[in-house]
Amino acid sequence: MDRLLLFDIDRTLLKNAKGHRDAFTHAFKEVYDIDTTIDIINFNGMTDQQIIIEVLQKNNLSEEDIKTKIKDCMTSMIEYYDNIKNNCDPPTILAGVKKLLKELDKQNYLIGLVTGNLEPIARGKLERVKLNQFFKLGGFGSDDINRTNLVKLAIKKAEENFDFKFDKNVFLFGDAPQDMNAGNEAGIITIGVTTGIYSKEQLENAAANYVIDNLKNTRKILNIVLKKAS
Ligand SMILES: [Mg+2]
Repeated sequence: MDRLLLFDIDRTLLKNAKGHRDAFTHAFKEVYDIDTTIDIINFNGMTDQQIIIEVLQKNNLSEEDIKTKIKDCMTSMIEYYDNIKNNCDPPTILAGVKKLLKELDKQNYLIGLVTGNLEPIARGKLERVKLNQFFKLGGFGSDDINRTNLVKLAIKKAEENFDFKFDKNVFLFGDAPQDMNAGNEAGIITIGVTTGIYSKEQLENAAANYVIDNLKNTRKILNIVLKKAS
């Protein structure tokens, strides 16, 4: 395993994943007794713990009060999502994703996730569209609030559990500037994909090493991944 390829989920691999947003709303009410939704902030690129804190701060809770119950909040979200995940429509797989994952798997590259989603929600979304088996490891929003730490954690898991050595051979695909910044801070190669709400320019400004329109061009992506950073 001489390459580790890490993927963000929302708007990089999938879109229109149902249930996650409602899980926040449910947990805000159950744990903090607040009627609110994540739509009051721009949650793109944020980890779930960052979203919880920012939404509740906008509802005038102190960071300390929020953090006291943040574990309960995550548990409530996971329980809610688990109950409803099979009753809602499956997410949409973005163009090229399935073909790309199959090809990367065939090349024997190690494939993982770096997502702000809590792990059971991330895995649930991917299970719903039968893609979960491709992702051998990951850094998840349930592991840490900070996305850079999630990248580092994924690399650590690769080194500990797989025959992998970190040497300028880790690539991160994501749709948000926060993905690019996290990859950059962790010292890996970042590939921005403009399938979310952010433009090529915005991703380049966030120090993306490459920016592509989508994940359709398997050949082009393999060529990027075959190069190592100098
Ligand atoms: Mg995303």
